[in-house]
Amino acid sequence: MALYVQKYGGTSVGSLERIDSVVKRIDRCLASGHHVIVVVSAMAGETDRLIDLGLALGAQGGEREMDMLMSTGEQVSIALLALALKAHGHASRSYLGSQVAIRTDDAHTRARIIDMDTKRLSADLDDGVVPVIAGFQGVGPDGEITTLGRGGSDTTAVAVAYALSADECQIFTDVDGVYTADPRIVPNARRLDAITIEEMQELSSLGSKVLAVRSVEFANKHRVPLRVLSSFVEDDNQNTGTLITHEETVMEQPLVSGVTYSKDEAKITFVGVSDEPGVASDILGPVGDAGIEVDMIVQNTALDGRTDFTFTVRRGDFAQAMQLVREVRDQVGGREVVGDDGIVKLSVVGVGMRSHAGVATTMFKALAQEGINIQMVSTSEIKISVVIAERYLELGLRCVHSAFGLDT
Ligand code: ASP
Ligand code: MG
Repeated sequence: MALYVQKYGGTSVGSLERIDSVVKRIDRCLASGHHVIVVVSAMAGETDRLIDLGLALGAQGGEREMDMLMSTGEQVSIALLALALKAHGHASRSYLGSQVAIRTDDAHTRARIIDMDTKRLSADLDDGVVPVIAGFQGVGPDGEITTLGRGGSDTTAVAVAYALSADECQIFTDVDGVYTADPRIVPNARRLDAITIEEMQELSSLGSKVLAVRSVEFANKHRVPLRVLSSFVEDDNQNTGTLITHEETVMEQPLVSGVTYSKDEAKITFVGVSDEPGVASDILGPVGDAGIEVDMIVQNTALDGRTDFTFTVRRGDFAQAMQLVREVRDQVGGREVVGDDGIVKLSVVGVGMRSHAGVATTMFKALAQEGINIQMVSTSEIKISVVIAERYLELGLRCVHSAFGLDT
């Protein structure tokens, strides 16, 4: 007998039919003698709808109220699922984040989970009650409702699995696992049977949308067993999904496990700045002070004491970052500031890279053969990222995917 935490995303509870299918899946799991705790997202599209309503009223400065608003989406779906479970003869109880005391810090709209109570949930399991918990929300130090950032239900599920030492945290979604690339762009992408948590963490932070990056970080830190499965495949034997393992490698480890991308990128180049100590911090200081996250940074070798300094930020921060950099122009004596938000970051990830040289060359060659120019590069132990023009995204992903032998 095992304890599973099952998380169902927005499309998985997007209609009464989908909720019925969730009930049947839980029913099968209980019939096999297992315990289940359920975590759900808001019904598909609901969080977006709520955010649009709030934004239409000028949500600036109203993060507390935005949390109040956004957290209602999950309140609807937990109630519906608990009612549906009862209608099928299962004792069930729905809970808001605050009711099972998912305690967070006070950072509205992006709160972090600190800890939670397990008393009510353990008692429910002892009594044969199926708890249904609202994902994405918690309660701050002053009793305020908080939310965990978009996709935060994944994090709730992992935190619940950790707190109750579940045998597995199962994330049910509209795809049947983690793929070697986004199958909507790369038709030859393959589902992976397993992937290491380190690789999953890189993929998530580099743009993959399958799991929220914080949930993977949490699972990694606390060694929570995690699996991604489809809520659309009815035959459980066919639905093994992708296991996110805490082993250091998986069987038949390829060099590269996956290719991913992020469109949420923009780059800013400060042309002809003087090449002397302090310039980089003069440029990036105000950007950092404004809370803007800088990702890649490249500085060219200096000619005649002048150099070009380039960095990337999120697209939403682009205009503000451009403004801030223009303001320091007199100080650092640059020639001009040029920006480009028509770029994407394309990354390959694999623990196999640790022990193999030449991965970068394979990637660069594949891009060169398609005439795709690489604008920036950054590497770490298990990933290589390049910045390319957005119009080459599809072609770039496909050619790199096949260069590493990932095609089906
Ligand atoms: N409903 C929230 C969102 O759309 C949380 C989640 O789905 O994980 O971001
Ligand atoms: Mg999600």
